[in-house]
Amino acid sequence: MHDFSFKYYKKLCHFLCEQGYEFATCERFYEENLYKKNKKIIVMRHDVDRLPYNALKMAELEREININSTYYFRHIRSVFKKEIIKSIFNLGHEIGYHYETLSKASGDKKLAISLFENELNDFRSVVPVTTICMHGSPLSLYDNRDIWKDYDFKDYSILAEVYLSLDYSKIAYFTDTARTWRESSLNFRDRVSTPSVNLSSLTNTQSLISYIEKNKPKRLIIQTHPERWSYSLKSYATSLLLDTVAKSIKSLIKLTRV
Ligand SMILES: [Zn+2]
Repeated sequence: MHDFSFKYYKKLCHFLCEQGYEFATCERFYEENLYKKNKKIIVMRHDVDRLPYNALKMAELEREININSTYYFRHIRSVFKKEIIKSIFNLGHEIGYHYETLSKASGDKKLAISLFENELNDFRSVVPVTTICMHGSPLSLYDNRDIWKDYDFKDYSILAEVYLSLDYSKIAYFTDTARTWRESSLNFRDRVSTPSVNLSSLTNTQSLISYIEKNKPKRLIIQTHPERWSYSLKSYATSLLLDTVAKSIKSLIKLTRV
């Protein structure tokens, strides 16, 4: 079984169910203060950076095993596909907005906030949206979260920004950024300020499973990028190739920023 395949993802989900975790969407997790409660809760949070069809396939797989998760969609032509967004929502998942308007506006905050409002309205013409999450924009100089230094997302009827609104000292947080679960130097911004776990040994999904089995964290967030998880051998080859290219580009950027 290849790592980062749908089969492996299914294995991970089954394992989490067997461990007695309750699955919650980001909205529920925040709104019902689930992270303060004394039960085993997990949030599966997906960032749809590209290939939205992969996200739909993953959403269908999760439906089969009765999992509700959250999908953050970018507002770019190749990703913002209304039919796919609606279908994932109709499968019982939450849709969130993966915003990147500060980098789109090259740092102009006034322009960024008006773009944010327009794009949010586009989403809301398709499905309800109550939580948002910044896109890391590794190729950009701007950190998209910085617009909230000047503006308040609550003014746009947004309950939570997942990087800013949660206390990560109480949550075990794992991300598949850079095709590994361990801390990677190529992960520019998809990280949280106060990670509660030492991630150095988590090289593959099996080591993530072993870690959870041994340490039994109460509250968990697992962040994935559905395009990284392949549903067929062909999509496996494509995603491996794209990740390798992306890694080389990020390494180059890193060199130029030192
Ligand atoms: Zn992203």
